[in-house]
Amino acid sequence: MPPRRFLFLKSTLKKLSNLFLDAIFPWQCVNCEKESLNPYPLCRECFEKIPINSFFICPACGKRIPSLKNCSCRQRKKISALGVVSSYENQIIKKLIFAFKYQSIISVQTPLSFLIKKFLDSSCFFKDLDKEKTVVIPVPLHKIKRRQRRFNQAELLAKKVAIDFSFSYSEKAVIKIKNNPPQAKIKHPEARKENIKNTFKVIRKEEIKNKIVILVDDVYTTGATMEEIANILKDAGAKKIIGLVLASGG
Ligand SMILES: [Zn+2]
Ligand SMILES: [Zn+2]
Repeated sequence: MPPRRFLFLKSTLKKLSNLFLDAIFPWQCVNCEKESLNPYPLCRECFEKIPINSFFICPACGKRIPSLKNCSCRQRKKISALGVVSSYENQIIKKLIFAFKYQSIISVQTPLSFLIKKFLDSSCFFKDLDKEKTVVIPVPLHKIKRRQRRFNQAELLAKKVAIDFSFSYSEKAVIKIKNNPPQAKIKHPEARKENIKNTFKVIRKEEIKNKIVILVDDVYTTGATMEEIANILKDAGAKKIIGLVLASGG
């Protein structure tokens, strides 16, 4: 059998077996614990209860950013605009992110990607971005951490944004070169900045040069990680960096 057809057969069988498994062992909603009729652990009612923002903000002052021009506050950050899809104060989004990140429930990417799409559809300047000059990249994990976790949640979300809006996608433009202690374990903002310093490297400059880069992660806390990556992207010739996360705080 030609390998291509074999791959198609394999993916069809996988989809069928997933449907079969979902029918026998339906997902329980992460929030209300009722049986979810969806192929992921979130019911329709709870999905509707997740608040979705409708505009990008300035990561320095929090003011609304209506266009890609710099914010009037003049406190320059390397991230020009930050898109925070929902609020970490909402327990449902919190539970979904936990299931995705720490329980490796990959199917949760589907409702999370729906939320991102809804947010981006309603944000004013996003749909005007030039497809040719925009690239989506995920915040990378160090290869050891990626192997342990089996997947990078930021990659799955970023890839879907690129597909939904026909942007190019680059997974290898930036890599993580140092396996530093997790930021979540460090509380002080200055210590977080120090911990993340020099841990990333741009290895494919040609993929980001003169481009608007949409940098995707799951959660934005102090912004140290995103600023560090934005810094090296700018040095490597990126034109503008837009941050995109599911929630901020954490
Ligand atoms: Zn529910
Ligand atoms: Zn500002």
